[in-house]
Amino acid sequence: MDRSAKSIVALTGAGISVESGIPTFRGPDGLWQGHDPHQLATPLAFARDPELVWRFYEWRRGLVAASQPNNAHHVLVEIEETLSPLTIITQNVDGYHIEAGSENVIELHGSLWRLKCTHCSQRWEDRRHPLPDLPARCPSCNALARPDVVWFGETLDPHNLNAAYKQTQQSSIFLSIGTSSVVHPAAELPLLARQHGAYTIEINPENTPISGFMDEVIRGSAADELGRWWKEDYPKLLDTD
Ligand code: NAD
Ligand code: ZN
Repeated sequence: MDRSAKSIVALTGAGISVESGIPTFRGPDGLWQGHDPHQLATPLAFARDPELVWRFYEWRRGLVAASQPNNAHHVLVEIEETLSPLTIITQNVDGYHIEAGSENVIELHGSLWRLKCTHCSQRWEDRRHPLPDLPARCPSCNALARPDVVWFGETLDPHNLNAAYKQTQQSSIFLSIGTSSVVHPAAELPLLARQHGAYTIEINPENTPISGFMDEVIRGSAADELGRWWKEDYPKLLDTD
């Protein structure tokens, strides 16, 4: 590896927030009041029953508000403070990277803490929990408001996506942390990074569709393994050409 080129991109998914107590959508703990979150986080579900979808988001906002970023989020802040540049591309909507103090963050799927009008498309931040009225309404035109997140079946903001592609192609180390790599297009980013010559590492307790294509796979939790990688493995990467 070229010692002078050490720009790091970290792609993060729901797994990085598991140790903050925020469940992923998968597995036995993934159901909310008997509903599969993959079925609720959709435009169709919101069109059918906006109040139900809002109650799901209120629950998620409450969980996130009651907890905080964990060691993995803090290690990424430390990496950014030590090395420049580091870019975080996150699929998470919990806002924990920004809360922890990371500055260079692309929130691909939006944020639980922003709302968007379904009529005039105005966006605004609202961190109150609980929200006073559900479903929430637009302060400008009083139309129905929705969480400013990207739901299954919706397209990503092209500006964010282009920024993610650009950073990925320029990275020399690409970390894929706590993501199942089945949600596209984020799942393609580690492969794109590798095609462009990055050293690619996956940190996940479980196998994923991209595991076999990575230069290195670290099986374990993000909170434990990212800090260990940064202290022990990263310096060794700089010593090899
Ligand atoms: P996902 O596709 O990001 O998969 C979660 C991954 O985390 C799995 O591969 C799992 O093996 C891994 N994992 C579990 N515990 C871990 C740990 N301790 N350390 C590292 N990895 C761990 O997530 P999903 O739940 O299918 O969510 C799909 C989409 O829903 C996400 O892309 C996101 O937009 C949204 N979501 C966000 C949050 C959040 O903001 N915290 C939580 C759930 C879902
Ligand atoms: Zn409006």
